[in-house]
Amino acid sequence: MSSLPPSSPLPSPARQLAQAVQSGALAPQAPAEEALRRIRAAGQLNAVLSEVDPTEQLQAVQQRLNAGETLPLAGVPVILKDNLSLRGSPTTCASRMLESYRPPYTATAVQRLQDAGAVVVGKANLDEFAMGSSNENSAFGPALNPWGEGRVPGGSSGGSAAAIAARLTPLTVGSDTGGSVRQPAALCGVYGFKPTYGRISRSGLVAYASSLDTVAPFALSAADLALTLGVMSGHDPRDAISLNQPADFTGAPLELSGLRVGVVQEGLPGCTSGVAAALDEMRRALGAAGAQVQEVSLPHLKNAVAAYYIVAMAEASSNLSRFDGMHYARRAEEGAGGAVQSMLHTREEFFGAEVQKRIMLGTFILSSGYSDRYYTKALQVRRLIAQEFEEAFRQFDVLLMPTSPFPAFRLGERSGDPLAMYAADVNTVGVNLAGIPALSVPAGFETVDGQRLPVGLQFSARAGDDARLVALAAALEQLGAVQLETPDGYQDFSL
Ligand code: GLN
Repeated sequence: MSSLPPSSPLPSPARQLAQAVQSGALAPQAPAEEALRRIRAAGQLNAVLSEVDPTEQLQAVQQRLNAGETLPLAGVPVILKDNLSLRGSPTTCASRMLESYRPPYTATAVQRLQDAGAVVVGKANLDEFAMGSSNENSAFGPALNPWGEGRVPGGSSGGSAAAIAARLTPLTVGSDTGGSVRQPAALCGVYGFKPTYGRISRSGLVAYASSLDTVAPFALSAADLALTLGVMSGHDPRDAISLNQPADFTGAPLELSGLRVGVVQEGLPGCTSGVAAALDEMRRALGAAGAQVQEVSLPHLKNAVAAYYIVAMAEASSNLSRFDGMHYARRAEEGAGGAVQSMLHTREEFFGAEVQKRIMLGTFILSSGYSDRYYTKALQVRRLIAQEFEEAFRQFDVLLMPTSPFPAFRLGERSGDPLAMYAADVNTVGVNLAGIPALSVPAGFETVDGQRLPVGLQFSARAGDDARLVALAAALEQLGAVQLETPDGYQDFSL
């Protein structure tokens, strides 16, 4: 359990619910029932694709509590991005391809949440196969941002972000391959944490780009983040790249005095005035608390988007080749033409446009004669970026930059320009290429066309230093530098 001091000014709904259930003050089924009521009441957000019946999970929690066990997440309702496997429940990846798929096993990270007493109540919307930054690539329609009518929640974990922002559950889980938890967290005004690559098992996460994929939580306080990360982290023999290093998230808030903070210059161009103002305010607050804040330049970051999309599309084309209508997933109506026709037909009919585009580009990138020019080159750039981060972390304890250059945009506003959509990932994808941990912190608001929209800032740290970022968040909460609010029309999750 987290030992963060109770003086933290933010409520920690997951921790508080678990304590109430553990002590017997609250019936174990009460939080899950409330979550399901909220999911139904917030149907207009399209954040949740399917509900999960909690009955069996609740029986298990009840039995274990009766047996005297301590469950750090006793009865805490959770919504999972619909690319995380839950045995027997739909896991669609927001794709027609997997519409009727029910996995035969549960993802390790999810199993660990359940073992800690958490209760899965729903599966969240996403961009198809986690490819996108707005949730507009879902085969089941976009999720919406509870902060501003007609605005995207970000992506690809848009449903998970919208769901926790609307307080449907106090915790949600997503995946972050190039920013898919941090960017929607920023656009929805909550915490989103991308762990060190390998810190949380990927077993049971449907693969997008395996060398970049991470399972990543959303939370409403540093204490809840600490609790969730503590539960989900740890070695897993089912994931070949799983780290075998202990991570302890129970530490005290970070000492800000003397903390060396580098502000990454490459993250600033193109930001809106509200994002720039939030960054200035964070610098000021950190400086006033005694941190040494200085500019730092990571020149290769300007190539991060290009390198990321080459690597991600190459890996995606390989990972998604299994969905051929024969080995995995569904098959389109058989016509004349045999196996090849059937495969083509299946992939054309059940993959959406963005996924098809990425498979084609990825296949081209890996094709003989071109792979040296694109793929090998991208891997070289990736190495340079990782080295640049390593060097920066010799001088700085953490790096700071905006998570997204702008707050939530309107549906349709950016979908006509895919390159602009990719370019906006500039601040998040470098972290995945380098494999390091990063946290998006809700850090203020910007009013756009009369709508008050959240702004997020990203702190990153050297590989393995996940706990430092959570301890930093706790310190920022004490400093009043985190602005976590509930959008109008929604209510905090406390019972
Ligand atoms: N926007 C990025 C992409 O489309 C990130 C996606 C992710 O992290 N899953 O690939």
